[in-house]
Amino acid sequence: MNPNNWKYKLTVWMQGRYGIDPLYKALLIAYAAIVVLNLFFPSTLLWALSTATLVFAVYRVFSRQIARRAEENRRYLLARDSVKKKALLLVNRARSYKTHRYRQCPNCHTTLRLKKQIGTVTVNCPKCHTTFQVTIRH
Ligand SMILES: [Zn+2]
Repeated sequence: MNPNNWKYKLTVWMQGRYGIDPLYKALLIAYAAIVVLNLFFPSTLLWALSTATLVFAVYRVFSRQIARRAEENRRYLLARDSVKKKALLLVNRARSYKTHRYRQCPNCHTTLRLKKQIGTVTVNCPKCHTTFQVTIRH
């Protein structure tokens, strides 16, 4: 590759630096959202928040502390997946409201999907095998 090529120069300069990851993309989306919000509700606080978000996103890309950046990204992905899982559960709950009810196991806190049966039933948790009573009123 031509050493005067800007792509080559960028590649050399980026060596040992962290680069782009899903958290970077999320930070840019957050930045854009705050900028739009600031258009409707202009405030110094929102401006400062958007600038801080952008600076942090760019700082992470060029950071040489790769392990620390990777750990931030790992924590972000865990939180994102947890939110996704909860949102999906809410959607499924709403969809199957006529036929099923969701209850948490008192022992392992797993959410169980139970056939809607008015009255009290004995449930055996498939995960931890705890037996407990569930009352479905409506
Ligand atoms: Zn359980």
